[in-house]
Formats: sequence, C-alpha cells, structure tokens
Amino acid sequence: MVLRRFIFTTLAVLSTALSLARFQGSDRCLDVVNKYLDKAQAYAAEGQWDLSGAYTATILMERTYRVYAEGLEGDQSRLIASRGVGVWNEALPGAINIEFVDKPELADIVIKYQPKVLVEGEDVYGYIDWTRTIGVRDGRLDGWAQATISVSTMETSRRKATMDRLTHVTAHELGHFLGLGDCDRKGSLMGPALARPVLKPSFEEVETLQNMREEARRIRWQAVFAQISRNRRKV
Ligand SMILES: [Zn+2]
Repeated sequence: MVLRRFIFTTLAVLSTALSLARFQGSDRCLDVVNKYLDKAQAYAAEGQWDLSGAYTATILMERTYRVYAEGLEGDQSRLIASRGVGVWNEALPGAINIEFVDKPELADIVIKYQPKVLVEGEDVYGYIDWTRTIGVRDGRLDGWAQATISVSTMETSRRKATMDRLTHVTAHELGHFLGLGDCDRKGSLMGPALARPVLKPSFEEVETLQNMREEARRIRWQAVFAQISRNRRKV
C-alpha cells in the first residue's frame, strides 16, 4: 500500500506496469477487505451474529476515529489531515468520522508528515500500515480499524510538497484505510501518483466503497431478521 513516486525512477514506472498485469487488465478499483465481508457472511450463515456484526463493523466504520497528526508547523498537520478526510466525506457523506487527539497513544489513526518516507529503500510519497481487529471493546464483541500513515513533505529532494499534494497523499492512504486497494487507472485518487495532485475520488472508487458498505448493511439486516424470526419461534 505504497504510493510510489510515479515520476521518480524508471523502476516505479515498471512496477506500475507490473501491477497492471497483476490486476489482470481490470481498471476497476479493488476493494481489499472482501475477506472481511466473506467472514461476516459466513458467521451470519452459522448464526454467530455477534461475530458477523463485528466483521461488518470493520467495513462500515461507524465509530468516531481518533486521529493524531504531527510533523508540519502549527496547525498544518491537522489541517491537511482534515482535508484528506474531507476528500472522502465530500464524495461519500459520513465515509469517516474523526476527532483529533493530542497524543499518539490515544489515536486510532496516526498521521506523520515527514521529509522522507522510505519503504524497502524506495523513496515514496506515502504509505499506510492498517489493521482490522475483532475483539471485545466496551464489554462487547466489536470490530475496528487502526492505522499509521506516513506522508512525505517533499515533492522531490529539493522541492517541498504543496498543500494539494499532501492532501492527495493523505486522502490516498485514507482510501486504503476505508478498504480500497491501489487502482491502476491514471488520474484516479487510488491510482499511481502523477505530477498533478488528485483531490477527488473517481466514480468507481466511491461506488466500490458504497457497494462494500451496502453489502455489509445487508448482512447485518439479514442477521437482525434471522434473530427476530428465531425469537418468534421460541414464543
Ligand atoms: Zn496506495
């Protein structure tokens, strides 16, 4: 989940070509959390509603996510993080709700703006490590996500990244957090990084998230109805 510098080296261009092959020619954006939906469905089928619900929660992301952002001067880290979140909420209202916290240990999402972001020796625009967890929280079985996002503050070794670039990279990495994979379509938010920053998800990107969430809601309702009918039978 590395946002490679498309213009950085020939190798980066090659790796984009490789991912095209891996995606088997599809230009649709991938949803990388399909397996969580599959699990939600499988547990629902077994009547394990709590577990099923916990898995759908990792897709629906209805909680308020606590964000800690650092690295830029003054309020800039929070400003850019808010903009990145705004990119998604504008396209898909309620895509992600956040509140800022003052300490990284209190956060679900830590966003670090730093001059250099290296992944396996490669200088990249940004990357994310996310986890989705099923566990007991506030006394009940639940599912949630956490992430650490790194964003490079430099466009090249000499030129600082613009506000738009920082917003683009933040929004791209948040796209992974929400469940999207990298997309091979140039010019889309989840696509390879081009010279011009992208500040809006494509129709397909929004649709992929929407479909995923609708499916999670359908599974959840299925579980609710199944429980209602089971209780009726008991009466
Ligand atoms: Zn990516």
